[in-house]
Amino acid sequence: MLIFISYFEIYRWILALFVIAISLMPAAYLLYFSFSHKVFNANALMAFMQSNFSEAREYFLVNVNFLTAFLLIILVLFGVIFLKFTPLLAVKNQTKSKTRILIIVLILSQFFIYENANLKSLFIDVIKKELKISSQYHAFKDERIAKIGEINGSFGGVYLLVIGESENRNFMSLYGFDENTTPRLDALKNDENFLLFKNAYSNYVHTTAVLKQALTALNQYNKLDFKLSPSIIEVANRAGFNTAWLSNQAKFGFFGAPNSMLALPSKFSFYTSLDDSQVGFDGVLLENLRALEISENMLIVLHLMGSHTDYKKRYPSEFTKFGGSDDLAHYKNSVFYNDFVVSEILKIAKNLPNFKALVYLSDHGEVVGVGHDAARYDFEMTKIPLFIYFSDEFRREFGGFEILKQNVNEIWSNDLLFNLMSALMGVKSALYEPENDITGPFYDKNVSRFLTLHGAKKIANELGLKGDFR
Ligand SMILES: [Zn+2]
Repeated sequence: MLIFISYFEIYRWILALFVIAISLMPAAYLLYFSFSHKVFNANALMAFMQSNFSEAREYFLVNVNFLTAFLLIILVLFGVIFLKFTPLLAVKNQTKSKTRILIIVLILSQFFIYENANLKSLFIDVIKKELKISSQYHAFKDERIAKIGEINGSFGGVYLLVIGESENRNFMSLYGFDENTTPRLDALKNDENFLLFKNAYSNYVHTTAVLKQALTALNQYNKLDFKLSPSIIEVANRAGFNTAWLSNQAKFGFFGAPNSMLALPSKFSFYTSLDDSQVGFDGVLLENLRALEISENMLIVLHLMGSHTDYKKRYPSEFTKFGGSDDLAHYKNSVFYNDFVVSEILKIAKNLPNFKALVYLSDHGEVVGVGHDAARYDFEMTKIPLFIYFSDEFRREFGGFEILKQNVNEIWSNDLLFNLMSALMGVKSALYEPENDITGPFYDKNVSRFLTLHGAKKIANELGLKGDFR
């Protein structure tokens, strides 16, 4: 009898684990569909995995509707009933062989679900692919450096690249938003050293996927091999610049790690937090920037947390300018705080000896309250701010300034950042592409060529444009 009880308990636990495993995927599909009306796929998984637990919970709470809540209750009830009664019913009038058959059927049903719910491509392939990409990226370091080739000099000086987060330019007064979300940057509008680009778009809508193309020679147009695409940091190192990476995004974690991989060649790096749970306000980086030892020739990258969900955690209470407790109010406040952070970074930069230029852009945009998820792609998720601020001296010296000034309305996707930074720093490696350099006379302005979502969308189509719109 004792033996039977322990056998029964083990059996019951095995069955319970099976039931949970079997139910998770169908439940995830149903719940995701109930609020997004899209099928859960690898893109949705990627977006979900970019979040930490609290962000995932927030995402769910933001999106939850009556149907989702109803489904969730039904699923939980179903689970409780199943776990409570099925094993008892199965065992009560059971012989051992019947139990064995039941277990075999359950195991077989696992394989059936594994194949049909596409679990393999969803979880295992996505994770395997990411791991392979990062291990290859490390392994091909020397080949990448060799691709840079000889660099004949540079302009030298100090450059800052500030990478914002989830900032949709349509919520910035700098771009005509009807509320005063960016007063400090607005004040630069008539500054002759300030160039604001009206038609900048992201190359994708997830941070890491964007940065892999923005920071390296790879772009949607040249389709180079990522592992053989040097980053702007590797190019700057090669050209004799000192390089620093200051980040308010996590260093580790499934999605922190690939960003850190791109930061790795920096000669100095600083992260405010190791994992997502510790991320504080972007203003912390101001102190780090002030404390940074500045070299004569230097590229400093600042990676902000910007306006990433959960918006209300992105700004200190004294930056509550817009009232209300909804997502929109919190988002506008996060943009307002970002305006302060970026302006302060610029103030510090302008006082650095040998300061040449500061480039600010966001990694991607945002649909407020929805987020940035390729599975729920919306053109708004690609609308990013881009500006460049020049020192007085560099504005006069840099040959591309007048061209840039004429190109402020041209379309630009942020996978072309590598070419922009190369041109500004005067480090034209073997990977520099004149047709992708918005500072140069050969920039290909043909509207129909521009892409986003890693080539899946034509920006002209998204804008509803047929020919040339200039
Ligand atoms: Zn992002």
